[in-house]
Amino acid sequence: MHMPNRSLAAPVLLALLALMVHASAGRADEQENLTPLLLAVQDAPVPFMGSDGRVHLVYELWVTNFSSADTTVEKVEVLGDSAVLQSLDTADVVRRLQPAGLRQSAGTLAKSTQALLFLNVALAPGAGIPRQLSHRVTVRASAAPPGHQVFTENGGTTGVDRRPVALIGPPLHGDHFISADSCCDAIRHTRAALPINGRVRVSQRFAVDWEQLDAQGRIYAGPREMLQSYTIFGKPALAVANAVVTSLTDGFPEQTPGKYPSDIALAAADGNSVTLDLGDQRYALYAHLQPGSIKVHRGERVKLGQVIGLVGNSGNSVAPHLHFHVTDRPALGSNGLPYEISDFQITGRSPGTEAFDEAEAKGSPLAVKPVSPPQAVKGAMPLDQLIISFATR
Ligand SMILES: [Zn+2]
Repeated sequence: MHMPNRSLAAPVLLALLALMVHASAGRADEQENLTPLLLAVQDAPVPFMGSDGRVHLVYELWVTNFSSADTTVEKVEVLGDSAVLQSLDTADVVRRLQPAGLRQSAGTLAKSTQALLFLNVALAPGAGIPRQLSHRVTVRASAAPPGHQVFTENGGTTGVDRRPVALIGPPLHGDHFISADSCCDAIRHTRAALPINGRVRVSQRFAVDWEQLDAQGRIYAGPREMLQSYTIFGKPALAVANAVVTSLTDGFPEQTPGKYPSDIALAAADGNSVTLDLGDQRYALYAHLQPGSIKVHRGERVKLGQVIGLVGNSGNSVAPHLHFHVTDRPALGSNGLPYEISDFQITGRSPGTEAFDEAEAKGSPLAVKPVSPPQAVKGAMPLDQLIISFATR
């Protein structure tokens, strides 16, 4: 058999196979088509209320290019009970598509590769929550023969997980806290997909790295490498609910601020940490606490607002902060769950992650845009880069 050149072989083969399948389709109950793009959702989204007053669905669409042709994803439509909830164009996809194992996005889906498309669907105000989601994905394979270059596939059908969202108290008390790397489009937590024990997990999907500004808008004042320079250092981390202490780890030393720790083992990444069992298979993690500061013990029943420990810089941490998240298991190999904080105020907005990183690196004031009067929020997830006050009890 004559073989065309290498780059065209696979698309031609696919086209031939498609013809063969069509020819024999009468024997099957439904028509069979080749679907070289495989779409799947591993963890169904749990809808929650964001601090923007909208219900969000945050999840990952797995996209596998099961062909030998490089493709560009041109369009993705998210369908909720058949209605289009969100439409992403090529530029949107470039920002959200992350090949397996990469910590950066890429617009192309190379041959024989798998990628995760990180989705954040904010429902229109007042819209009902769909029962089912599916996806319509259009890709271009430029090397394929004319007529086969653009194709669309439907898939990734998933239910919506309606388990109750944890309604919790604040993890800190006071003013000028920053919800850094919070939901839903920040890279460091929402996209922290990790292969653990044979399955990819996004336990930090809804994590926040809480930082705090001083009266001059600075994350730290004084020498960068000194723990005491940081506004948040030593602030009490508080129990977000009446709960039971599931596990705790102590004894990790403080890291030197400003220096990225190297050679941190997975088990040491959280540093000194406490996990609370909130009930209904929901667990709250407090990470990077000061060594020797943990004030609870394993099995203890804690009360809402009780001091758990003090904010520090242990484990995989470059500056003192409180990493807080909720998962379905007390482990890194778990599914990150949304939560809603019962009561807080938004007093300002950070210009964004880039400005935050610069303020954290230089100790320079963050150019906060004030929200005046402060916006009172009840029962919502604090979204990314907000300046927040938690009322003192
Ligand atoms: Zn974190």
